Amino acid sequence: MKCEHFRDVKAVSHPRASHARGCEACVKMGDAWVHLRECLACGHVGCCDSSKNKHATKHFHTTKHPVMQTVEPGEHWGWCYVDELMVEEV
Ligand SMILES: [Zn+2]
Ligand SMILES: [Zn+2]
Ligand SMILES: [Zn+2]
Repeated sequence: MKCEHFRDVKAVSHPRASHARGCEACVKMGDAWVHLRECLACGHVGCCDSSKNKHATKHFHTTKHPVMQTVEPGEHWGWCYVDELMVEEV
């Protein structure tokens, strides 16, 4: 594993967004999303890059929180924006 960011966020407990109903920013705008991603640093839920608004990526650019995971049912992987590295079984 070449990425230290997952190890770092795992050392910190963070709120889990397993209750996530949607991308909060899209809901506020009345917009739609495709898939949801959860920031592992703070629990923020945003929409994926297949979604029009790409809020998960915008969250990274705004906050520099480096890693997220999918919150889609049955999917278990994460993504490091800094290393552009996918990790299975986060
Ligand atoms: Zn990384
Ligand atoms: Zn969104
Ligand atoms: Zn975050």
